[in-house]
Amino acid sequence: ENPFADALVCVAGLGVSGPPVARALLARGARVVVVDGRDDETTRRVAAELTEAGARVVLGETPLPEGCDLVVISPGWRPDSPLAERAAEAGVEVIGDVELAWRLKPADQVWLAITGTNGKTTTVRMLESILRADGRDALAVGNVGTPIVDAVLPDAEGHVHDILAVELSSFQLHWSESLRPHAATVLNVAPDHLDWHGGLEPYARAKGRVFARGTLRVVNTADAWSVRLAEEEGDPHTPLVGIRSDTPRTGELGVVEDLLVDRAFVDEPHSSAEELATLADVRPAAPHNVSNALAAAALARSVGVAADSVRAGLVAFVPEPHRIAHVARVAGVDYVDDSKATNPHAAAASLNSYPSVVWVAGGLLKGAEVDDLVSSAAHRLRGAVLIGADRARIREALDEYAPEVTVVEVEGPAADAPEGHTVMDVVVAEATALAGEGDTVLLAPAAASMDMFTNYPERGRLFAEAVHRLG
Ligand code: ADP
Repeated sequence: ENPFADALVCVAGLGVSGPPVARALLARGARVVVVDGRDDETTRRVAAELTEAGARVVLGETPLPEGCDLVVISPGWRPDSPLAERAAEAGVEVIGDVELAWRLKPADQVWLAITGTNGKTTTVRMLESILRADGRDALAVGNVGTPIVDAVLPDAEGHVHDILAVELSSFQLHWSESLRPHAATVLNVAPDHLDWHGGLEPYARAKGRVFARGTLRVVNTADAWSVRLAEEEGDPHTPLVGIRSDTPRTGELGVVEDLLVDRAFVDEPHSSAEELATLADVRPAAPHNVSNALAAAALARSVGVAADSVRAGLVAFVPEPHRIAHVARVAGVDYVDDSKATNPHAAAASLNSYPSVVWVAGGLLKGAEVDDLVSSAAHRLRGAVLIGADRARIREALDEYAPEVTVVEVEGPAADAPEGHTVMDVVVAEATALAGEGDTVLLAPAAASMDMFTNYPERGRLFAEAVHRLG
């Protein structure tokens, strides 16, 4: 039985998830109306393609179509957006792309789900690599990679992957009701997107939805919210598997000397622990990344992946760009691009990875506080170069908690800048002036980029280009 046959479904939002959602629904025989408040060149081009495929498209306004049975909303849309409110009043169900994918997927496809404030993409990619090293037919889906609805319907050859490593944002989880992953983890919870969710508690609770009925729970024992959500939101009848960065207890994965060790999924008889990999197999080499690797390992082990495959998968894993990416060493100074550190928690993790840092930070803080970040990193700072809309807030924290640290604020590119130079050339020059041999100049902004750049990859790329011009 196909619940979508002839249903009238409204797809809200023509962004990243909307077009694949519309196509998947059309393929299932639904009548589809796509709406988007924007009406510009990009939306018109996408609209033309979807019209061609059989959808009706409304641009420039977001009405709830007459007779609508279901709304599939773009995960970024807020619960108080007019369309969501109108649907709620009319009693029309509103779901996100992930919930739709769950309803469309083949019954025997296994989902391993990963959420958290930071580390999702890295962990999902590590998990995919580990599963493949074990010979599994696995695919990573989410922000980076295949849209999730494309991974649940047969491709051109009629093939559907057996296992998905699923990256889930708090937005996607907010708009999901019935997912039941085989196993799931909340890597960590720290302030981010508070303006969207209306506070830390609702943001965290949205993440907690990943622990559904029957879902094996993987928790980061170092993160209070991870543990709490598994206990309070999760199914008490499923195993609770801890990960920790030191000696694991029974039922946990952890680190003993330089080895990643599993004391939860041990299949050798008469043995209480199994070696999975060495710390050197984990890249980028940073403390927080060890917990990402352990979370990926735990999820993989929950579906019976062999210990050897964990190591092989971690070794084969290719780190994503702009995440603690080493750019160059110039005159004894290392330059590192962690442009993806778009919130204070991520920036804290990367600052923690280096003993002596000239910190490049600033942008849009999205309502987050930076006092804890600055006070905990103060002893590592040689200097700071601040950019972006909310730099004054970071400056205040530095003045208070790190008064000896030299702080330079950069507003924009110099008026007489050479052709092709950007604001990052000024930033890199100022940072270099503050750095001594053995220091790391670290772009870890603790903030979103959109006030000055198109997105975080552009911010990282311009930083790297400016570094290369130094040499
Ligand atoms: P996400 O998909 O959740 O944004 P990424 O893997 O893209 O996660 O990493 C985002 C940022 O968070 C990067 O700056 C990275 O250095 C940092 N980070 C990665 N893993 C962790 C972690 N476990 N704890 C804190 N920060 C992390």
